[in-house]
Amino acid sequence: MSRIFSGIQPSGELHIGNYLGAVKNWVELQRSYESFFCVVDYHAITVPYDPDDLRTRRREMLVSLLASGLDPSVATIFVQSMVPEHTELAWIFNTVTPLGELERQTQFKDKASRQESIPAGLLNYPVLQAADILLYRADLVPVGEDQVQHLELSREIARRWNARFGEGFFAEPQAKLTPSRRIMGLDGNAKMSKSMGNTVGLLEEPASIWAKLRPAVTDPARVRKTDPGTPEVCNVYHLHRAFSPPDVVKHVETQCRTAGWGCIDCKKVLFENVNAELTPIRARAAEVRARPELVDEVAGDGAATAQRVAGATMREVKERMGLA
Ligand code: SF4
Repeated sequence: MSRIFSGIQPSGELHIGNYLGAVKNWVELQRSYESFFCVVDYHAITVPYDPDDLRTRRREMLVSLLASGLDPSVATIFVQSMVPEHTELAWIFNTVTPLGELERQTQFKDKASRQESIPAGLLNYPVLQAADILLYRADLVPVGEDQVQHLELSREIARRWNARFGEGFFAEPQAKLTPSRRIMGLDGNAKMSKSMGNTVGLLEEPASIWAKLRPAVTDPARVRKTDPGTPEVCNVYHLHRAFSPPDVVKHVETQCRTAGWGCIDCKKVLFENVNAELTPIRARAAEVRARPELVDEVAGDGAATAQRVAGATMREVKERMGLA
């Protein structure tokens, strides 16, 4: 069985953007692949943060992952900082990674431009990411388009390390592109992101979801109810594609193009389908929260399984590098 690895930042409760863009896909993949899903808290400390807040966000992310349907009986779900081999291998990879490659990374340039003092960890972030993946010698990495550049760097790091210490030891991981579900923020202007304040939480109550959905930006051509629209330019349509059954999506297309209904009618139907998917997830989250020991158990068991694999990789890496 091929092995997959994927990580997610401990941003607290998932929002529907990262649920649709990553986690829903993981739930579908977990039974077809040997799966390692990691809450990457070491990545989260490359920008300013509050320690108590991080602890809470890490736990809330585990709750969201379990509520979304990740099953610890088939997938290894763990927290990065509980497996020290991640940083150990990252240091080793730092010694074979060219500085220029790191400086060229778009995400580094983007994040660094927003900080007065740039920590080295922000630059070396993709090296840790390479260690995350290669530690488990993963064959495939489910990623969105925006992560492909980082994955290419992981492949480059694998090649460079292999060339010096063990041809073919690290297989170059391949991207398993997540079906394109780029969900914009409800303001219609940017990717859905907590920092932009334009998200819908996965565990949010229905009344609060509707309060956000009702005023959400749609096709600007639909000024009056009688103006026909173009569903493809509307984020509400893309949310329908993610949450509504195919016959409803077809109906939305027709109604929009023919001005058969207004945007509020369209949003009401979307709201029903969002609720149909999120209600059981909210219920599962309540069950998980009622048993706090379950989260600790999942994280502990996941870390133990991950460490068995990571430890075996590190033993061979050190052997080949003259460190053991
Ligand atoms: S009818 Fe629906 S798909 Fe068309 S613009 Fe309005 S909200 Fe968007």
